[in-house]
Amino acid sequence: MIETEVCIVGAGPGGAATALKLSHLGISCVLVDKAVFPRDKICGDAISGKAATILSRIDPTIMQQFETATHLQTDIWGIRFVSPNNKEIDVPFHPKYDVQNDPKQGFVCKRIDFDNFLIEEVKKREDILFFENTAIDGYQKTTEGFQLYSKTKAFQINARLLIVANGANSNFSRHFAGLEKDPKHHAGAVRAYYKNVQGMHPDRFIELHFLKEINPGYFWIFPLPGGYANVGVGMRSDYISRKKFNLRDGLNRVLSTHPILKERFKDAELEGKVTGFGLPLGSKKRQISGDHFMLVGDAGHLIDPLSGEGIGNAIYSGFIAAEQVQECLAENDFSAQFMKAYDVRVARVLGKEMQLSYSLQKMMARPWLVNLTANWVSRNRTLIDLISLMYIDLEVRKKALNPLFWIRLMLGKVDLEKLR
Ligand SMILES: Cc1cc2nc3c(=O)[nH]c(=O)nc-3n(C[C@H](O)[C@H](O)[C@H](O)COP(=O)(O)OP(=O)(O)OC[C@H]3O[C@@H](n4cnc5c(N)ncnc54)[C@H](O)[C@@H]3O)c2cc1C
Repeated sequence: MIETEVCIVGAGPGGAATALKLSHLGISCVLVDKAVFPRDKICGDAISGKAATILSRIDPTIMQQFETATHLQTDIWGIRFVSPNNKEIDVPFHPKYDVQNDPKQGFVCKRIDFDNFLIEEVKKREDILFFENTAIDGYQKTTEGFQLYSKTKAFQINARLLIVANGANSNFSRHFAGLEKDPKHHAGAVRAYYKNVQGMHPDRFIELHFLKEINPGYFWIFPLPGGYANVGVGMRSDYISRKKFNLRDGLNRVLSTHPILKERFKDAELEGKVTGFGLPLGSKKRQISGDHFMLVGDAGHLIDPLSGEGIGNAIYSGFIAAEQVQECLAENDFSAQFMKAYDVRVARVLGKEMQLSYSLQKMMARPWLVNLTANWVSRNRTLIDLISLMYIDLEVRKKALNPLFWIRLMLGKVDLEKLR
């Protein structure tokens, strides 16, 4: 029986970031994962500026090392949006960017490599006791915290604080914390690795295509090192059921029949299989903490409902959870009431952003509206610059959440130079 103050279940980006932040705060912990690393995770593999920023806040050397690992990752410089009427809008992450000299704003890296890179950092820290190949199957609430055990009970652990970071299918999250799957706030997606896709953006922009064939939902192409690309489609789960939409068939249909994409994929080779997984979206407000526990990342349903980005939010929630652990230990208070501060902080940094994404997600379900907006945006350089600024500047993003800001923009009363 292992005794610990803090146990983290799940060592994906959420769990690993929590453990690393705790270690930097001088708090030791136990980290447990059922897999043996390197292990794969079905994903689009895009790592946002948010993920990079928070990892650097934990320890600047982590991202410095990651940036030099160019055999693992591709640096990306913007997003190419393609509307149902095939209008392309390129939104760089910075309005005036210099690929050679500017700091990097985002990456694409196969999860098998990215998650293992973080685990290598975990293994360097002596105060993180890491167990892989160890699945936690049972949770027992005790007066002091939680008792956790494997199926055969060969592995048992007593923890005063439990951080649940075991992903989208977390048993604890669903059955203990009561976060039921809600198809309106959940998506399904499939991804595949292809080599030799033609027509990739010269400055390595990721591509999001809002196609008639996959509506509502989107198709993506994200560049990877070595001429590879991560290609996939995603759709909200209620639409998948209602339309009886098969994501794998949808992907294959687009690649073989779409007039532009079929040309780009005519010499492309599929590597491995097309595989799928669920995305618990953060568009519905949920309680993500309780007496002696906190939920981090996908276990807390924290994926952005528009972009499907969950790595950054998993890392961010892990960072906040670690700071909450510090507070709990200092005050010797692990009550549900005290833990609410975690919910409040997560809602403050991610809540509004996810509500904005949810509104845009609903808009994207109307192809005519997307076409109209794409026509308007493509003619308006100021608007494209503003969207770029929103990506890099959280203050601009906050301003953009106010409808008055958009009215002032349309009236030409917003000076972008002053916003910078
Ligand atoms: C098809 C698809 C495309 C996506 N594309 C992107 C993208 O491009 N960018 C992006 O930011 N996000 C993307 N996401 C979302 C992203 O994958 C998740 O949000 C992210 O992995 C969440 O990290 P996490 O640490 O919370 O969970 P996970 O990465 O799922 O890690 C959970 C860990 O818990 C372990 N575990 C599970 N059960 C147990 C147990 N019982 N005991 C012990 N350990 C356990 C697992 O082995 C795993 O290592 C995508 C998701 C899908 C499905």
